[in-house]
Amino acid sequence: MEKLREIIKAGLTLLFPPTCSCCNEMTGNNCQPLCGECLAQLKFIKTPYCSCCGRAFLGSGENHLCGVCLKSSWAFDKARFLFIYEEVIAKLIHDLKYSGQTKGISTFRWLSKQSVVLKDINTPDFILPVPLHMKRLRKRGFNQALVLAKSLFPEEKKKIRYNILLRKMDTPAQAGLSGIERRKNLKNAFAVEKASELIGKKVLILDDVFTTGSTLNECAKVLKAAGCTNVEVLTICLSDKIVS
Ligand SMILES: [Zn+2]
Ligand SMILES: [Zn+2]
Repeated sequence: MEKLREIIKAGLTLLFPPTCSCCNEMTGNNCQPLCGECLAQLKFIKTPYCSCCGRAFLGSGENHLCGVCLKSSWAFDKARFLFIYEEVIAKLIHDLKYSGQTKGISTFRWLSKQSVVLKDINTPDFILPVPLHMKRLRKRGFNQALVLAKSLFPEEKKKIRYNILLRKMDTPAQAGLSGIERRKNLKNAFAVEKASELIGKKVLILDDVFTTGSTLNECAKVLKAAGCTNVEVLTICLSDKIVS
């Protein structure tokens, strides 16, 4: 039986050779969703990184606080991301966000399993995707943060809740705004529903990209105000550029 399964698998691979989720070239390997070249370009976050915001440091040593976190205080307790921004991860996120490519879902699951960062996240009571405003959700048809949550935590489906953290205001795009303008733009943009469920709870907020952190910080603020004891953030990558 096992042998038959292997023969069928080999036959399918011959008929439909696995292609790279990023460049569509053949991967030559059934077990990985990216070709060797694309995989080599990815910049996984490795230690040492900032123990608060997750920003990676050059060189070796222990995790410690970065200059930004020494000066500013975030509303979230900890942020982690899996990758540093570069072209391959930007394309994978872009494809997921704008063309709804389902191929990306299994790719992100596979990539997250290769990351050391996920072990750093405290087990949450709830996993909350950063919400889109209803208007934008209707236009896009899906919330990429919710797709990512389901992709990264397939065994935690009951914890993933999209009806607790809500986006009340359809804020203009954040691209091109300074840090102060971003914060102004987001003021009162988020709210929580079913607030009583959050008292004393640990939550993980999920999004695709951490840029200045303003959006995630604003979400963390309303969650802390609602009584969450621990709010952590997970994104696919950190970007100083805007993924458009
Ligand atoms: Zn490739
Ligand atoms: Zn930091």
